[in-house]
Amino acid sequence: MTIFEGRVKEWDMADLRPEFAENGALGVYVSVPFCRAKCSFCNFASGVGTPVAIERYVESLCAEIGSVGKRAESLGAMLPRKADTVYFGGGTPSLLEPAQLNRILAAIRGQFDVAADAEITMEAAPGQISDELLKAALRLGVNRVSLGVQSFIDREAASVGRSHTGESCVAEIARLRRAGVGKVAADLIAGLPHQTDASWQRSLDAAVASELDHLSVYLFEVDEGSRLGAEVLGGGARFYAPEVPNEERASAMYERACAFLPEHGFGQYEISNFARAGFQAKHNRKYWERAPYVGFGLDAHSMLKIEGPGLGAQGPECAVRFANADELARYDGREPAEITRVDARGAFEEALFLGLRLVEGVSVAALRQRFDAGWVDEAAGIARELAAGGLMVVDGERWALTSHGRLVSNDVFGRLLESVAV
Ligand code: SF4
Repeated sequence: MTIFEGRVKEWDMADLRPEFAENGALGVYVSVPFCRAKCSFCNFASGVGTPVAIERYVESLCAEIGSVGKRAESLGAMLPRKADTVYFGGGTPSLLEPAQLNRILAAIRGQFDVAADAEITMEAAPGQISDELLKAALRLGVNRVSLGVQSFIDREAASVGRSHTGESCVAEIARLRRAGVGKVAADLIAGLPHQTDASWQRSLDAAVASELDHLSVYLFEVDEGSRLGAEVLGGGARFYAPEVPNEERASAMYERACAFLPEHGFGQYEISNFARAGFQAKHNRKYWERAPYVGFGLDAHSMLKIEGPGLGAQGPECAVRFANADELARYDGREPAEITRVDARGAFEEALFLGLRLVEGVSVAALRQRFDAGWVDEAAGIARELAAGGLMVVDGERWALTSHGRLVSNDVFGRLLESVAV
């Protein structure tokens, strides 16, 4: 990616847009990195927290939210005032006390005009949403709950440290519906210990038979970041690494989901995401469409557009990405730990590899309108080669990945980005 560190200092800050600007509605992400226990496959910045640590964290979080205008200004970024999505991710945000959730949402509403019909999502672990929290969440505007099911098969869930059963997940989904949660989503993971083609199918069957309206299907990531991943790489059996299906089998499970879910009412709209009609995740779409979002809390990432003299005709696509510390001891809500400036060329690369994650792909006309025509032509040559190899569809004004291309998306993106690398 083409980046230009520090360039903002060369501009006259007075020429940059004011603190709050209209640039499409904003998505707000809030990280709540605490869980009751750490799942063996998890490589997120999350851990078990004491009530005191959680309370201290909420204080830092609210202070960070309160200073968002200053942070955007110091980065030369445009910060839309209107927000139409809020996403509580984790960790397990459903472990917050009602008063803590209230304080965080009040802090957000103090800084942004949260649309009356905003999509407000809370991630939750099945069986870990108290009646009090659920009632408060609904009262405060939460209208979407995303459950970390991972597997409806008891043995698989237990082997990775989950305390739920398939039956309790189905009951939890029904309970959320009864309570009045408008949208209920869940995650499944292909490649967990003990998973077989037959058990995977049972999880898919349970998902489509339940009252879910959105499903995310991920492949277990084998890396050093999780205890199970480290065991698969380094050996051992404590976390059931020998029972983890190999990559080929896990990929076949993902492909099975891609074929089965659309036949049962869950259209695929992104590499990992499936939804009933009208239930795509509004918040997550912002990531793939390069719409502005701000993240608060541990390891939270943000992307805001910038504008100013010296950026050229493609200035509106230029952005600043920034991220908070990913270790709790280093997070204080004050300064981002990482800042990356994305110039027009970098924005073009992002528009390609993020946009192509969507099943609908990218509009070539829109790329030509927003970016240098020469870059689009360079990429078009590679896109045609990838199409000849069965990895992409080049259909007049639209480029998209084929289902096989989605399975090896990182290789496809690598090839395309070679074409646009400076
Ligand atoms: S998978 Fe979810 S619930 Fe499990 S440790 Fe990670 S963040 Fe917590």
